[in-house]
Amino acid sequence: MSYLNSEDPALRRERVGWANGIVFDSRDSPILLDPTSGRRLQQDWNVFISHAHSDHTYGFSTQAKKYCTEETLWIYEALREQKVKNYHTMKLGETIRIDDFEVTALNAGHMLGSCQFEIVTPNFTTIYTGDINCVDTLTTQAAERKSCDYLIIEATYGHPSYQFPRRGTMYADIIRWAMTEIKEEKIPTFQVYSSGKPQEVIRLFNVYTKIPVVCNPTIARANDVHNDSGIKLDYLDSSTAEGGHTLKTGGCVYITTSSDHMPRNASRAVATGWAIRQAFRKCTSFPLSSHADYDQLMQFVASVNPKIVHTFTGYTDILSTQIERRLGIRATQLPVISQTKLLDFGEVTT
Ligand SMILES: [Zn+2]
Repeated sequence: MSYLNSEDPALRRERVGWANGIVFDSRDSPILLDPTSGRRLQQDWNVFISHAHSDHTYGFSTQAKKYCTEETLWIYEALREQKVKNYHTMKLGETIRIDDFEVTALNAGHMLGSCQFEIVTPNFTTIYTGDINCVDTLTTQAAERKSCDYLIIEATYGHPSYQFPRRGTMYADIIRWAMTEIKEEKIPTFQVYSSGKPQEVIRLFNVYTKIPVVCNPTIARANDVHNDSGIKLDYLDSSTAEGGHTLKTGGCVYITTSSDHMPRNASRAVATGWAIRQAFRKCTSFPLSSHADYDQLMQFVASVNPKIVHTFTGYTDILSTQIERRLGIRATQLPVISQTKLLDFGEVTT
């Protein structure tokens, strides 16, 4: 089933599909959600960016009009140390009207500033989840659930084998491991992305221990945005004299984005949902994820009760099959439009 090939004139009229991101053809000025490259986007196009992870932020480097939450903008600017032009920031719950479409930002629970987009078109309501997490964490609240006609949902961990332990259990495991390593005069060192996961891990040690946390300078810049946004993080920047001294003397946790400048006596760890099925060489792994696991995804779909689901990213086939079998809701992978036809957008979608 494709919106674009549908025999239902109402669906065809909505003209939704995939072309370098999820596209809604709103007549004069197309709406593009999380474009997957910055090429060919024109100044009058409307680009909505769901969160600040780099695989979702290609739109920031284009001349198109950008829409995102202010936290997403701030994290992006802090990490790249550059300013974005031609943007409009949205608060959660705020609605932007473009032609006869309305786009509303809803909390996605994935990282600071992350949002889903609800797109109300003349004939139906669509929700695009971006990356979602459906449980509370120390830095985010579970994704909002709102009913819709069409749901476009990520399937990163949409395989039944991905069942994450309770978050409290994982938090306890991480602290226990770190304390053991410190007792053995090692420095527990987490290698993570620069935003989202590191701030959750910092908050974990801040809330439940008195162990000092040292971060590399990139993560420190994202930390500043969290502090400015009300998520208090106590940490030292490794590029400062105090941070460097603490790393040398030990008795701390180190959080970094790469294997460069690993401290002496580092004991490496990763925190990722892939740890459920994947072994990592020479490091400890914790299945702490900022994404929903399989059960969360299925419960999310059931609770928003859409007529049709489209899956994107990861286990798209398996999740859509499971949704059809277990929930009785029509589900397929998101229909794909050839990128070469993007410039003939009007023709492709009629
Ligand atoms: Zn993400």
